[in-house]
Amino acid sequence: MSTETLAAPTFATLAPPKRLLFGPGPTQVHPRVYEVLSKQIVGHLDPYFFEVLKEVQTLLRMVFGTENKFTIAISGTGTSGMETAVSNFVEPGTKVALFAAGYFADRIGEMAKRQGGNVVRLEKPWGEVANDADATEFIRREKPDVVAYVQAETSTGAFQQGKAICAVAHEVGAVVIADCVTSLGAMPVNVDETGIDIAYSCSQKGLSCPPGLAPITLSPRAVERLKARKTTNGSFYLDLKLLEEYYEGRKYHHTASATMWYGLREALVLIAEEGLQDRLERHRRAHVNVVKGFEQMGLRMHVAPEHRIWNLLTPRVPEGVNDGNVKTRLLKEHGIEIMGGFGQLAGKVFRIGVMGPLATDDNVQMFLRCFREALQAEGYKG
Ligand code: PLP
Repeated sequence: MSTETLAAPTFATLAPPKRLLFGPGPTQVHPRVYEVLSKQIVGHLDPYFFEVLKEVQTLLRMVFGTENKFTIAISGTGTSGMETAVSNFVEPGTKVALFAAGYFADRIGEMAKRQGGNVVRLEKPWGEVANDADATEFIRREKPDVVAYVQAETSTGAFQQGKAICAVAHEVGAVVIADCVTSLGAMPVNVDETGIDIAYSCSQKGLSCPPGLAPITLSPRAVERLKARKTTNGSFYLDLKLLEEYYEGRKYHHTASATMWYGLREALVLIAEEGLQDRLERHRRAHVNVVKGFEQMGLRMHVAPEHRIWNLLTPRVPEGVNDGNVKTRLLKEHGIEIMGGFGQLAGKVFRIGVMGPLATDDNVQMFLRCFREALQAEGYKG
C-alpha cells in the first residue's frame, strides 16, 4: 500500500488539564516562567546563551548561599545532578560514608556502588535523621573519602542538618556531597555556611520551574579533588571537567537547551525579586499553617517538629483510610495532585508539597478544605 492512500491522522490541540501541584514535585510554574519558555532559542554556543548562563550562575549562587565559582546546571533532572556528583567524586575503591534514612539516600548508595565505590552506611529509620554525635562517631570511625547525605529526604519528609557532618568530614579529609533537590529555593540550603562541597538540586521543586535542569555547585576543595582525579569519569555526558570546558571555555560538549536556561533564569529572577529570605519565610509560614490544619483534623505528622522539611509534609494516613483513594479523589474532584509514601512508607504517609506559588495563606486554606473533604469522603471521622 502506498503511503499516499493513508488518511493523515488528526490530533486535537494539546490541552493539558488544569492542575494544582501539591505533590513533592514538579510544582506550580509561574506565568512569567511559562512566557519565557516560548521565546526564540539561540544556539548552545551563541554569545547570548553565555550571557544567560552568567546571570543564572550569579542567581544560583544566591539561592545556594555560596560564593563558589564552579556553579552550573546539568542538562537533566535532579537524578542527573546526583549522578554528576557521584560519578565525578567516586572512583573504584573510593570509600563513601552514606547517611541512609530514605529512598534518595539509597539511590546515592546504588550510584556509588555502580562507580566501584565502597559504601558504608549509617542507618536511621525513615523519618529520622542522624544527630551530631552519631555523625561524628560514624565519620571518625570510617575515615571515608566522600561523605554523602540528603538534606531534604523527599521520601520521608525529614531535613538533615549538615554542619557537624561537614566539619568532621573535613577533619578526616573527605569531601561532602549534599542532595538539595527538594530544599533549594524553599528552605535555607546555606552551602558555604554549612561546609558542603558538592551540592546539587533540580529545577522543578523549590525553584518552581519545569523539570529539565539540575543546578550544581562545587567548593574550591571539591574542584581541587576533581582536578586531582586520576581515572577518567566513565560518563562523558556528566564529566564535570568537560562541562567546565563547555561553560567556561565555550567548547562544544552537548547541545544545552536555551529554552530550559531561559526558564530557570526567570524562576530565579522571581526569587531575587521576592528576596530569598522573604521567600523562605513564606514557605516556613505556609508549613506552620498546613501543620496546624492537619493537627486540627486530628492527623499526626510522621517527622518530629524540629526535623521537618518546610515544603514537603508527611502526615500519617489515618487508620482505615486508603491513601490511593484520597489521592485519586483530590485529582478527579479538584485537579489537586498529591503523592503517597513509597518503599518503607507505602500506604503509611501522604507526601504533600507546599512550595513556590502555592505556598500562600489562601492556597493553604483551600488545600486544607479539599484535603479534609477527600479524607472524610473516604471514611475519616476527623
Ligand atoms: N533527590 C531527591 C531528594 C528527590 O526528591 C528527587 C526527586 O524527587 C531526586 C533526587 C531525583 O530527582 P528527579 O526526579 O528530578 O530526577
